[in-house]
Order: sequence, then structure tokens, then C-alpha cells
Amino acid sequence: MSELQLRQSIIDHCRHMNATGLNQGTSGNISVRHGSTMLITPSAIPYAEMTPEMIAAMPIDGEYGVWSGPKRPSVEWPFHLDIMRAQPEIGAVVHTHATFSTILAIARKPIPACHYMIAAFGGADVRVADYARYGTKALSENVLKAMEGRSACLMANHGMIATGPTLEKAMWTAVELETIAKQYYHALLVGGPVILPDEEIAGVVEGFASYGLASGREGAAAA
Ligand code: 13P
Ligand code: ZN
Repeated sequence: MSELQLRQSIIDHCRHMNATGLNQGTSGNISVRHGSTMLITPSAIPYAEMTPEMIAAMPIDGEYGVWSGPKRPSVEWPFHLDIMRAQPEIGAVVHTHATFSTILAIARKPIPACHYMIAAFGGADVRVADYARYGTKALSENVLKAMEGRSACLMANHGMIATGPTLEKAMWTAVELETIAKQYYHALLVGGPVILPDEEIAGVVEGFASYGLASGREGAAAA
């Protein structure tokens, strides 16, 4: 895909996540790896008004925090950049304020193995990153910790992050995370979930690798 096509694809995915209710307003942001550059949505621009040239570009391994473009990058560029620096296999990062993920994040409830699909995120749970103010390096550090061995996490009193080797896969992961968050939330209301054992989830993680369902954490050990 050319850089222009990638920039347009970022905008298309932003509009899609708002149209499907996975996000709202100018909350959320998306980044994609393009060679040694990270392309990332500009800050506080309504997705309906966003055009390809507004997508900011940042060097992944060059001077930290340098950006080019007519608009400032998303305030969340630190965690987008730090995730890409830490994990070369990650090609895209999606951040949303999806309702059920955010409800659990507000309650600071990690998602346990209430459904076998938890394995799609790399292990037996999806963690909640400790709270730090939006846009800070402290938030990025908390996110990286919560994402160890995982393709996604919740962010305390804020929202969620999903990653993948491609933007399509990262968005798939975001949709699956919101789905399991919604299921877990409702299971809590009807007496609480029955949690699957760790050995079962380890087996499902292994199975997903051959089934073609594994997320950006392909090959990661279940824990
Ligand atoms: P940006 O508009 O700067 O991307 O911020 C939205 C957001 O979700 C902050 O956490
Ligand atoms: Zn946010």
C-alpha cells in the first residue's frame, strides 16, 4: 500500500469506528507503521473533516517526539510510538473510548478468562493499565507494562488500546475486546462468570496460532 493509501485507510478506519459505535467524537486515535515512520491521526480533528495530508508523520527510531505535517499529532503519540519502538511486529495501534471497555476501565476490572476468546489477546486476561493523565509519558509507561505479552489493554478511567500486525487486525482486536468487555460486564450482572482455567487458555492460544485467529501476539506464550 502506498503512503497516501495508508493515510486514507487510517481515516477510513477512524470513521468506521465512530460509525459502528466503537468510539465517539474526536476521542480515540490510530497509528500505522510505514517503514521507519509512524503515521498518526492529528489531535482533536473531527474524523469527517480529516484529510490524508493532515495525518502526522513521526520517525520511529529517530529523535523522540519529532513530527511533521500541518497538524499536531494526537496527544497520545507517546504510547503509540513507545509500543512501536518496543514491539517491531506491531504495525498498527488503535485507541478508543469504547463504552464497555471503558466501563470496566473505570471500575478498574481486568477482563479474566470468562470466554475462550480472551486467548485472542495473547493470554488469560486483559489487564488495566494504571491511571496516568492522557498524553503523558507516565501513561505510556503504564500501558507498556499492561501490554506485556498481550495485544491489548484497558486504561484506567480512560479507554482501551488494541494492536496488530496490520490496521485491519488491530481494528479486529479492538472490536473483539469491546465484545468480550460487553459480555463480561453482563455476566457480572447475572451472578458472575465462571472462569476458564489457565491450562485451557494456554491450549486455545496455541490452537489460535494454527487456526489463523491469533492477534498481534502470534507466538507469544500464554500466562
Ligand atoms: P487526540 O484527539 O489528541 O488524539 O486525543 C484523543 C484521546 O483519546 C486522548 O486520549
Ligand atoms: Zn483517549
